[in-house]
Amino acid sequence: STSVALLFEDWRRKRNIARIPPRPIEIRSDEIVDGVIGLIGNTPLIRINSLSNALGVDILGKAEYLNPGGSVKDRVALKIIEDAETQGLLHPHTGSVLFEGTVGSTGISLATVGRAKGYECCIIMPDDVAIEKVQVLEKLGAKVERVRPASIVDEKQNLARKRALEFGNTTLVDPPKTNPEIAVSTQAQPSEVGHETNSSESFVPVITLPEILRPALETKPRGFFADQFENESNFHAHYKGTGPEILRQTSGNLDAFVSGAGTGGTIAGTGVFLKKSLPNLKIVLSDPEGSGLYNKVKYNVMFDPKESEGKKRRHQVDTVVEGIGINRITQNFSLGLDIIDDAYRISDAEAVAMSRYLVSHDGLYLGSSSACNLVACVRLAKTLSKGSRIATILCDSGSRHQSKFWSDDYLRTNNIPIDTSIIDTLLNS
Ligand code: PMP
Repeated sequence: STSVALLFEDWRRKRNIARIPPRPIEIRSDEIVDGVIGLIGNTPLIRINSLSNALGVDILGKAEYLNPGGSVKDRVALKIIEDAETQGLLHPHTGSVLFEGTVGSTGISLATVGRAKGYECCIIMPDDVAIEKVQVLEKLGAKVERVRPASIVDEKQNLARKRALEFGNTTLVDPPKTNPEIAVSTQAQPSEVGHETNSSESFVPVITLPEILRPALETKPRGFFADQFENESNFHAHYKGTGPEILRQTSGNLDAFVSGAGTGGTIAGTGVFLKKSLPNLKIVLSDPEGSGLYNKVKYNVMFDPKESEGKKRRHQVDTVVEGIGINRITQNFSLGLDIIDDAYRISDAEAVAMSRYLVSHDGLYLGSSSACNLVACVRLAKTLSKGSRIATILCDSGSRHQSKFWSDDYLRTNNIPIDTSIIDTLLNS
């Protein structure tokens, strides 16, 4: 058996395949988990073998699609609800309703966590997102209201806020404020590295209600606007969860972190945490075409100066990639703006090519934003020395994208090529 081990070792080295240590017990433990919510977070970090072997740089994907609601947004939904409960804004099993405007993932996560915790859910969605997301939401018992695609005024968010206020007994989450404790300059103490942060501590101020009002409010249904774009609970879900997990999983041996931005919670929360712990780490934005964030990061202007001023723009970007790319600076994105070092603009054709490439080489069936992230990882890897390591987010799976991003018919109708040789060229350039 020793010779088998040696043969394997030789085979591994020749193919530049990393030796994966045995999975630590904290990740997906063998213990019984506490309901569906117990499954949220602590996702594995997958070495993407095809890309890593071709590049000589480890590309590590955080498998967020393994969360029970199917995406990275489960963490956010849970943190938003828990923080609201801590503030006395929500009480379970009182008929209280969560309202949110979303392209899908956040809604599905709010509906999943909401069901598990005893809340109803009402989701406002643009009418051009993949239909399977609406179907999942309805199966989860959420009420779905569809609006025309978001315009210069973000209609789905505004309508969600309006509906929450109409429902009544609604207190909006406090206006955003930057937490002074999240200063990037301070390096983590060695003792902090690799340890879970205490998820029960909350930076959100606690609203103290007069004691006499408490019992009445606890039984009355409340409307609650989750407000994922501005609500900093989103940032903290990643600052206290995704970031520390990646640091622990890589033992701090990491050179870059790549992420797209929809609300900006992932890149800001994870990025600020990782940068604080690893000051030399590069934080890189992957941005689909048509999004203003690329210009903001590269040139500190939101739009191409050649564009006529005052031109009407959709806040939601016109691309087959769903969930990332936006044309305004949200509160959650702004918390990470200072720590983003670089950005790549990814075309629909590149994202499509990457998704097909990963299925055929790795058996990985991913959604559009994950594919964008991995194109950016490849571009970035080309600028790093061999042996470097890049982590990114595998936000959701392809099953959420069958009728658009994964539909060959839809792509053909919209003149988006399906050509995996784009990735071969990228890898060999
Ligand atoms: N991928 C998908 C599929 C999403 O739905 C979202 C959120 N809209 C993102 C990525 C981006 O994450 P964030 O909102 O944290 O920027």
